[in-house]
Amino acid sequence: MKTFSKLGDQKLLQELNRTLVLNTIHHYGSTSRIEISKLTKLSQSTVSNVVDGLQKEGILVEAGTGSSTKAGGRKPTILTIRPGYAYMLAVGIVTEAFHITVQLSLFDLRLQIVEKTELELAETGVELIRSIKDIVREFIEHHAEKKILGIGFSVPTVLNREGVMFRGHLLGLENFPLEQELSAAFPTIPVVVEQEQHAAVLGERTMGAVKDIENLIYITVGRGIGSSMIVNGQLVRGEYGGAGEIGHMSINKYGEKCICGKMGCLRLYATELSFIKKIKEAVTHELPVPLTVYNPAIDKINVLEVYTEAVRGDSFCRSLVEGMLDDLCTAISNLVYLFNPKKIILGGNLLLAKELAIPRIAERLNEMVDSPASMIEIEAAQLGTQSSLYGVASLLLDKHFLNKDLLMKEGG
Ligand SMILES: [Zn+2]
Repeated sequence: MKTFSKLGDQKLLQELNRTLVLNTIHHYGSTSRIEISKLTKLSQSTVSNVVDGLQKEGILVEAGTGSSTKAGGRKPTILTIRPGYAYMLAVGIVTEAFHITVQLSLFDLRLQIVEKTELELAETGVELIRSIKDIVREFIEHHAEKKILGIGFSVPTVLNREGVMFRGHLLGLENFPLEQELSAAFPTIPVVVEQEQHAAVLGERTMGAVKDIENLIYITVGRGIGSSMIVNGQLVRGEYGGAGEIGHMSINKYGEKCICGKMGCLRLYATELSFIKKIKEAVTHELPVPLTVYNPAIDKINVLEVYTEAVRGDSFCRSLVEGMLDDLCTAISNLVYLFNPKKIILGGNLLLAKELAIPRIAERLNEMVDSPASMIEIEAAQLGTQSSLYGVASLLLDKHFLNKDLLMKEGG
């Protein structure tokens, strides 16, 4: 067992009290000293000391007065965290059909987005990483007056425990020490790197539809496909970080060859890659394709319009989306048997056609799985395409502001 010097003990205790008070106020939004004392079981004088310190630091502010106690007395002062005391910068790297989008969202301490921007990048590989570093650096310089608690990156690739990209085909990187590279680029700011689908499920758990759900599967569909499972309340990562990487699950051993070298991977059928293939075939055979989807004048495909046109009722686009959904259901039904979830949350570009997707998936699952499994609720991610950004922002908030690691260590 660890031993601490007396001074060390004292410091740890102060840190623990501060963390307890901060977490209590964060959890309730706003509360009074007396309530904090009741909730944390810390003495009123300890709470007052901690609160005084937090007010001096500018973290806490007064937000009016509460009602007085039964015994009469002075009305208690309500305290709240100043949302603009510090910020978290969330950076999402999203692979689209023909480019990579970098999303930057600045979150305040209430996990509200105060500013966001998006850029399209054409480069891949180390050039891409260099551009992303430059964009982030420029954003931070532009907000030099703001205290940035940390930078959280959400990436569409498998990361092992050391933050090394194992399979980054879509970004043109393999066995790349991403976390180390990004941390080195921002030496004075804490950096976290999380896989997109895990970040998204954490975001939905913090702010979205699934706050209290213990067993759920999140599936994101767009240019790629990924899933993340929460089982008995815990995120499943697997030994090498690859749990939920269903894109390379083979659904057709006689199918086409995938970039991973294997045959018939799900991503060839249940992502926008299937749209592009069928649009090209239709164009070759001079079949009618909406102009919004394929513009022959400039020979350009707009994949996202497939979802919109499908919802509008275009029969060609509808057949593309339905075909994709049916192949997706093959994978979902397997996941359902493996993990027996209460909910399935859909994310990614597929949400552009959620009116079509949710009933279609429900119908197919009813045909494919037995009765207890058919009780599963299928829902759209509430945070839309921003889920993973909320996820990395909440990771930074927990780690670098609320100091939850300390609470877990001392509480457990
Ligand atoms: Zn593959």
